[in-house]
This record gives sequence, structure tokens and C-alpha cells, in this order.
Amino acid sequence: MTIQNRRVFILQTAAAGCTIAAGSAFAQGAGKVDPKDAQAVALGYVEDSAKADKAKYPKHTPDQRCNNCQLYQGKVADAQAPCGVFGGKQVVGKGWCSAWVKKAG
Ligand code: SF4
Repeated sequence: MTIQNRRVFILQTAAAGCTIAAGSAFAQGAGKVDPKDAQAVALGYVEDSAKADKAKYPKHTPDQRCNNCQLYQGKVADAQAPCGVFGGKQVVGKGWCSAWVKKAG
């Protein structure tokens, strides 16, 4: 393999890697979190904050919602938006999970 061929090979491999990474990022970004997903269950995620498990999460209050959580990547008025905890999958604005952190400001 000449140096030139080797450079092309490395560039092609790197480009393929980027495509795969971009593809998986897209797959993660697409879709909505299913409350029955293992991660959602582990975090106690519900699509309605009022339905959070009060016995399991005694510190939960109904005014804690995804749309006022630091990790919600949307506006307060958005019905749903991506969440950092769920790899960019959409969560419901009035939902909640135990990773809730009050939005600063
Ligand atoms: S981390 Fe915040 S925005 Fe994400 S699901 Fe939990 S409460 Fe909702």
C-alpha cells in the first residue's frame, strides 16, 4: 500500500465512522420515549407529572414537569421536546422523571 493509498484508506475509514456516528445520533434523536422502556422505568418517567409514583419518589411535587426541567431541550410551551437524559429522544412537556432538575433562571 503506497502512502497515498493509505491516506485515502484512512480518510475513507474516518468518513465511514462519521456516517455511522451521525446515523446513530439521528436514531437516538428520533422518536419519543416510551414510558415502558427500561431506562424510563428506572427513572420513573411518566408522561403526566401528576401520575409519578409518590411512594417511590416522595420529593416529587406536581409542579415539577419536563418543561421546567434543566434537561428539557425545548420551550415551556412545547408539547414535547428532546431530553438529554434520554439521548435526545422526545419527552412530554407535562411529563416527569426522577432526574428532574429545576431549570435555572
Ligand atoms: S430529565 Fe427532566 S426533561 Fe428529561 S425526562 Fe426527566 S424531568 Fe423530563
